[in-house]
Amino acid sequence: MPLLPTDILIAGQWRRGAGEPVDTIDPATGRVLATIHSASVAEVGEAAEAAARAVADPAWRDLLAHERARLLHRIAELTEEAAPELAAVQTADTGKTLTETRALALSAAGTFRYTAAVLETAEDTLTPSRGPYVTMSVHEPIGVVAAINPWNSPVASDAQKIAPALAAGNAVLLKPAAWTPLVSLALGRLITRALDEFGLPTALLAVLPGSGRIVGDALVRHPLVARIGFTGGTETGRSIAAIAGEKLVPASLELGGKSPTIVRADADIEQALAGVLFGIFSSSGQSCIAGSRLFVAREIHDAFVGELVERVRKLRVGPGTDPSTQVGPLVHHRHRDAVAAYVDLARSEGARVLCGGSAPAGERYQGGAYYLPTVLDGLANTSRTCREEIFGPVLVALPYDDEDDLVRQANDSVYGLACGIWTRDLRAAWRIARRIEAGTVWINTYKQFSAATPFSGWKESGLGTEKGRDAIRAYQRQKSLYWGTSDAPLPWAN
Ligand code: NAD
Repeated sequence: MPLLPTDILIAGQWRRGAGEPVDTIDPATGRVLATIHSASVAEVGEAAEAAARAVADPAWRDLLAHERARLLHRIAELTEEAAPELAAVQTADTGKTLTETRALALSAAGTFRYTAAVLETAEDTLTPSRGPYVTMSVHEPIGVVAAINPWNSPVASDAQKIAPALAAGNAVLLKPAAWTPLVSLALGRLITRALDEFGLPTALLAVLPGSGRIVGDALVRHPLVARIGFTGGTETGRSIAAIAGEKLVPASLELGGKSPTIVRADADIEQALAGVLFGIFSSSGQSCIAGSRLFVAREIHDAFVGELVERVRKLRVGPGTDPSTQVGPLVHHRHRDAVAAYVDLARSEGARVLCGGSAPAGERYQGGAYYLPTVLDGLANTSRTCREEIFGPVLVALPYDDEDDLVRQANDSVYGLACGIWTRDLRAAWRIARRIEAGTVWINTYKQFSAATPFSGWKESGLGTEKGRDAIRAYQRQKSLYWGTSDAPLPWAN
């Protein structure tokens, strides 16, 4: 394990925070990895003021787009070089498998690279002239941006906000989740190194760990914070949106989900089995887009679910550092207990537990925040277990009768994040995909991502869009310029 960074980044300086100390644990063992002193409310203010000065610094303010793109390329390079260490830190802090955290670190590098390419090719527009003037629409930075992230995929979600926000010419105050600050701090080291190399103010980025209640709230409310990028739970998002509404600042929200994954009778069954398993049990189900409601055509329901359960029993549960592990521990014992409480609720609602339903037994799992991959059936789509996000390795199987019944049940959710469809009938896939209320629909695949493809949640799964060509624009303000071309004075005033 590389040396774990414990200083935090405030106003361009790495130092110990003045806020409350928070232990971050390795959920595979329960061992304390590091104690991070959070930022205090006063330090949030200090970071915001330094960030505002950095945004106005001519070294940054006047940097041309292609030069900012060079900075992003450098960050991408450093991130890629450091991918093994970033992965090790993130696996230790979140419990995810090394295979996954390596992919997340490389995806973060890819996000910086893609954003640099978009930045180099982004154009302002000359709009059609409707008088003796030339009209243009240009884009300006917003200023100081708060980026608030959850614990499930920190390095990738950090890059998803930092890259477009910096590309747009802003400064970023990043708040990682209190349970998992380590990889964000490590990424912060790489970014400040790149800023230093380019002679730019390091206060363009702050990394401010701590609780949402104290540090997150102080960030959202700070008068200098003019844009909020938030990923996390729906209730937190709602409270942040209320404050943003009061302040009249834009906020983008990537929130929770309860995504349907659909298996039609004509599906390639091998592909569907593998896809359903990966869709819910990778990342131990701690994924906003997890396919947690499985709808199977009634005529194949029992056979499909029976085979699925056989395969779930064979999934290898273990520490993220073991290359053979498929399902790592959950992020924290408290979260594991919350997942276990949901399975108890499911039982009380009349669910049958087809497999899992408890923590694994054995010395290997002692001290770790493990929970067995669990499949339930016998519940109605209207049960709380099917309505609420569990954010753990828990799948509910539900039969459906026909396409209308399927679409009605799949859409009967406050969430609208993602959906999977397994079928050989592409016309049916088209019809269902267009009727499903979700920001992302995967057809004969699941949980695949591209930096170039926009990502957004519908309904209570979010507001606004990340990724794609417009990601930078979401961190800018539009301005219209009118250039008079007439030699004559304006008529009325003359
Ligand atoms: P959370 O809402 O509890 O916390 C998210 C972040 O917000 C953390 O950094 C937290 O400290 C901070 N926060 C909490 N209260 C705050 C407040 N009052 N003001 C400001 N900041 C505050 O979520 P979590 O438990 O860390 O993460 C799990 C949730 O994130 C799940 O609901 C999951 O679906 C969602 N998520 C969504 C996406 C997406 O892209 N849609 C991606 C990943 C996770």
